[in-house]
Amino acid sequence: MEPEPAMEDAPPGGEATLIGGARRRLTELGLEGLGQRVRVVWNRRMRSTAGRALWPEALIELNPALQEIGLGEVERTLLHELAHLVAFERAGRRRISPHGKEWQRACAELGIPGETASHRLELPSRTLRRKWAYLCPHCLERVERVRRMHRHSACWPCCRAYAGGRYDERFKFVEERIS
Ligand SMILES: [Zn+2]
Ligand SMILES: [Zn+2]
Repeated sequence: MEPEPAMEDAPPGGEATLIGGARRRLTELGLEGLGQRVRVVWNRRMRSTAGRALWPEALIELNPALQEIGLGEVERTLLHELAHLVAFERAGRRRISPHGKEWQRACAELGIPGETASHRLELPSRTLRRKWAYLCPHCLERVERVRRMHRHSACWPCCRAYAGGRYDERFKFVEERIS
């Protein structure tokens, strides 16, 4: 009897494969400790966000819709998020801007120089014309608005989780203009 083909063995977009790739790249950058901790999961609740990175948790979450665009988009988003972990790991307790020069340098080292600072899922069908984007410097969740937000606006999930539901400067949104 023929053995069953091992279809489930490390599928190209499987979490184990993604974690393995992330670990290998972190080791290449001399970040073995982060490589041991890193996890990559598909988050089925993500809608317009392509991916996000949580540090120090070393957790990368990816939107499963990326797989419909193609493996190239999965890889690029993974590297974008990995660059966040690299930049935060190197900075340690020093505060850095999410898409600042430390992140840009990590992108270049990971082979995606000039990477865009957007976390938006670039589905061809998306035609929203929103002008403003807001990034939480803690959880990196990105929200988009047609109208500009009040300048003292912060990430609600983070304020709720870490500041008793009150406005907290640490979670103040970083504003970006979408061109
Ligand atoms: Zn980013
Ligand atoms: Zn947040």
